[in-house]
Amino acid sequence: VFSAIAQAPEDSILGVTVAFNKDPSPVKVNLGVGAYRTEEGKPLVLNVVRKAEQLLVNDPSRVKEYLPITGLADFNNLSARLIFGAGSLAIQENRVATVQCLSGTGSLRVGSEFLARNYHEKVIYIPQPTWGNHPKVFTISGLVVKYYRYYDPGTRGLNFHGLLEDLSSAPQGAIVLLHACAHNPTGVDPTLEQWEQIRQLMRSKGLLPFFDSAYQGFASGSLDADAQSVRLFVADGGECLAAQSYAKNMGLYGERVGALSIVCKSSDVAVRVESQLKLVIRPMYSNPPIHGASIVATILKNSEMYHEWTIELKAMADRIISMRKQLFDALLQRGTPGDWSHIIKQIGMFTFTGLNSDQVTFMAKEFHIYMTADGRISMAGLSSRTIPHLADAIHAAVTG
Ligand code: PMP
Repeated sequence: VFSAIAQAPEDSILGVTVAFNKDPSPVKVNLGVGAYRTEEGKPLVLNVVRKAEQLLVNDPSRVKEYLPITGLADFNNLSARLIFGAGSLAIQENRVATVQCLSGTGSLRVGSEFLARNYHEKVIYIPQPTWGNHPKVFTISGLVVKYYRYYDPGTRGLNFHGLLEDLSSAPQGAIVLLHACAHNPTGVDPTLEQWEQIRQLMRSKGLLPFFDSAYQGFASGSLDADAQSVRLFVADGGECLAAQSYAKNMGLYGERVGALSIVCKSSDVAVRVESQLKLVIRPMYSNPPIHGASIVATILKNSEMYHEWTIELKAMADRIISMRKQLFDALLQRGTPGDWSHIIKQIGMFTFTGLNSDQVTFMAKEFHIYMTADGRISMAGLSSRTIPHLADAIHAAVTG
């Protein structure tokens, strides 16, 4: 009965790893996947995560019972505090409904399905370009995806004018997806002043902000600085949604730990919102897994472990920033034509190099360096050892 089924295309991001794995070259480099690597090119489990796991394993009172549909209560409360700030009025007034979800993707999925069922406007505006999974998640949830201008290839920076124009002409009440920090794939974020202008425009038109926070603390090294955009919107008392992921900032990728928070106008509304979120989650996966959320809760509620986490987090962010500087210097040294200052200006895990798809293909074929077709490279996949090779490849691609 399945013999006529068509072969589905490879996921454009995960497909890069498939091609990389097939390449037998010893000098190959995978800059496609958005996962942190050490200077030695190895995946990293944070010390503080290992410590939390030890505590959990050695605690005989811990059992493997099902969590509630909404997940681990401690984890939800601490996650809301992490993104909105400990002093957030919305939290103090019990206006936030938070549910534990399957990492950032699951939080986006649950949030958008909730909106498709319970919110009057079905159109969601997402930036052009954006993370490749966004349009798929929102469409399958029943929302209608439209784009707002975001990136200016000319300046390799923000097209702020285009962004404001597109949001101005969005229908009243439309949902707007905003990357809280470290925009993926461009690494280009609005300044705080620009965020404030976006906020004013969105509030004046009743546009509903849906923040995707996949890189809190990972962009600048500061958990507070990377949450400024979200906190600006929550401080005005209005509604918003926020999807949080602990994949990058705690290195919990495969544990699938995340949270969806919906900030409401009153505690009464938040209770009803939570009841509807349960109706979304129950038939999807019943309830979320316990292990990863327990790790996060253990770290967030212990001040010593929390402090240790912030130090390890900053070390990851700093290594990425140092890779930017080293790559920029290496291109300067080679006299590679063009302005490469965007490499040090962009923020977060990725650099949107400006290389076109032919150049990307050339670099994979001739230099065994793999990246997504849009020219996005993961700075976390680089090391002092691989940077000269990458700089040679970029130089050859640009001058060849
Ligand atoms: N949003 C953005 C912008 C991302 O870059 C990612 C990870 N690549 C995610 C969400 C979700 O990741 P995860 O589901 O692994 O938390």
